[in-house]
Amino acid sequence: RKNMMVHQLAEAANVKPELIVEAADILGRKVYFSTVLTDFGFLCEIVKKLGLRRKLEGGGKTFEKTLLADKDECRSPKPHDMSSFPHRPPIITIMGHVDHGKTTLLDYLRKTTVAEKEAGGITQKIGAFSVKLNEEKNITFLDTPGHAAFTAMRQRGAQLTDIVVLVVAADDGIMEQTEESIRMANESKVPIIVAINKCDSKNAKPEKVIKQLVHHNLEPEKAGGKTQVIQISAKTGMGISNLVESILLEAEMMDLRADPSARVEGVIVESNKSKTHGPVGSVVVQQGILKRGMWLTAGTAFARVKFITDENNKQMSEASPGAAVNIVGWKSLPPVGEIMLQVNTEFRAKEVTQYRSKLQSMEQLDEDWKKISKIRQKEK
Ligand code: GDP
Ligand code: MG
Repeated sequence: RKNMMVHQLAEAANVKPELIVEAADILGRKVYFSTVLTDFGFLCEIVKKLGLRRKLEGGGKTFEKTLLADKDECRSPKPHDMSSFPHRPPIITIMGHVDHGKTTLLDYLRKTTVAEKEAGGITQKIGAFSVKLNEEKNITFLDTPGHAAFTAMRQRGAQLTDIVVLVVAADDGIMEQTEESIRMANESKVPIIVAINKCDSKNAKPEKVIKQLVHHNLEPEKAGGKTQVIQISAKTGMGISNLVESILLEAEMMDLRADPSARVEGVIVESNKSKTHGPVGSVVVQQGILKRGMWLTAGTAFARVKFITDENNKQMSEASPGAAVNIVGWKSLPPVGEIMLQVNTEFRAKEVTQYRSKLQSMEQLDEDWKKISKIRQKEK
């Protein structure tokens, strides 16, 4: 077929016909779904030459000037010397092979250490929770499936996890997803603490697991290596206080600190629509003190912080670095894994997020154009 109608081309390229109409329009040509395209290769060339991006940005200059010169929407560089800032809780991701006991361990930690929910309170899946050990010491656990969360965050350049707790079932040993978890943690340079789980089981062979760990460069400290390896049972609770201590020890060595006076930054770890509150985003705060009334952006979503709640839906006046909280006040669902950044004004929040939406649709257009060009080439 040499000549195609707009809608046929759209169908062949698996794009919306409106997109082609829109693109043609940008180039000053009016087409309809039934317009026959005789010179589409030419059209593709023109689009490339003119630069679709600049056209779509409405002259380009305004956006670049107002947005890219001002760094509101960029992560602030971390100072080299953090030693003057206060400590923050470590943020832990539990990873490991399916059925090795990740959920059971999280449940145990939550049940024994997190205060009971208030009667009648709405349970909001928060994606993270804090274990409070005393006035000073807290540990924040990410509750999202390890792999998915890790991947989503890495794609967006967010590094949230300080320590990976690798769960290995004592009756099963190192499996495919255990190896994948080790690889992911190593690639992100996140230290691993190994929890050999199911040590209550009569089929448990922790010594065998330890031998396997050595082959993966996770030699236990007791054997002269560098890795903390703890034997636990997520079912009975055996060894879990040792695990918690190991996490605190590791965190202490890492000397984790954050600047409370900086512009608020964090990562979205969960988001869902609440019937009463609209879109709710769970975040882990990484720096700054999150307060009511602040303007936030996360990808193409923005919020005015209406209120902040903890994992028990108790309202909080503010949240410090390392805390996991729910934020009510989002105008749309903030994407999971997205970096959350504070901006100064509503105007700015809108400007930044609209700009990002535009970039997104441009990227989509680019992708679609590539598809179209390919099809055209095949047809020649
Ligand atoms: P996940 O897929 O890693 O989240 O694993 P789950 O937490 O869902 O656990 C898988 C199965 O192992 C469940 O039937 C648990 O009851 C069981 N399990 C988890 N931890 C232990 C443990 O410490 N001891 C024993 N005996 N069983 C456990
Ligand atoms: Mg699970």
